[in-house]
Amino acid sequence: MKIGIMGGTFDPVHIGHLLLGEFAYEDFGLDEIWFLPNGNPPHKDTATHNDRTEDEKALKHRVEMIRLAILGVPHFKLSLHEASAVRHSYTYRTMQEFNSAYPDCEFYFILGADSLFAIEKWRFFKEIFPTCTILAAMRDDKDVKDMERQIAYLSEKYGARIELLRAPLLEISSTTIRQRASKGLSIHYMVPDSVAEYIKQNSLYREESDKAGKQD
Ligand code: ATP
Ligand code: MG
Repeated sequence: MKIGIMGGTFDPVHIGHLLLGEFAYEDFGLDEIWFLPNGNPPHKDTATHNDRTEDEKALKHRVEMIRLAILGVPHFKLSLHEASAVRHSYTYRTMQEFNSAYPDCEFYFILGADSLFAIEKWRFFKEIFPTCTILAAMRDDKDVKDMERQIAYLSEKYGARIELLRAPLLEISSTTIRQRASKGLSIHYMVPDSVAEYIKQNSLYREESDKAGKQD
């Protein structure tokens, strides 16, 4: 089996993530894509780190939104391997654990250009390369040339196996979605309908003052 791993914070999951998963699935003949929400990423401003209950609540929402987004798609799965609000997860360790737990599977780690260009800042990043093939998609201002240069650099320096993942270029990020939701702007078509509805029902990403005044 060939498994694609789509790691991220997914705060919230959006169509950029889903399209990356779908194109990786088709173009690389993968059998399944596992969405892997991280627990309490050290580098994210959305984690409070000092309010465990809040972090756990936020994680529950992030997980639930992925569940809704992939509902009814048999080749998309949810992995709760890193879903702990207290334990920090490291990609290399997760990938090593996946390789040991599923010796018959071949793993492909899917990421966007921002992650590919930041990967040398990840803890123990060199340990990731032997565990999987990386599928890297373009994002923002990075073009094919930038990607090819970075792929060649990482491959030569670390023996990384990296392929360019050609998916539609979408200028969508969870940050934009959180910002738009906080201002009460539409996020429809950026996330699946079920996720937009969930965000609305749970008043996610709203200003604190809005939440307090909410009646329903
Ligand atoms: P945030 O704005 O909170 O950082 P995000 O949209 O970047 O959210 P993440 O959960 O941080 O989403 O991203 C998970 C992975 O998906 C990363 O590897 C990221 O590069 C990739 N990704 C997210 N959105 C896109 C997009 N529109 N195009 C290409 N890659 C994307
Ligand atoms: Mg991001």
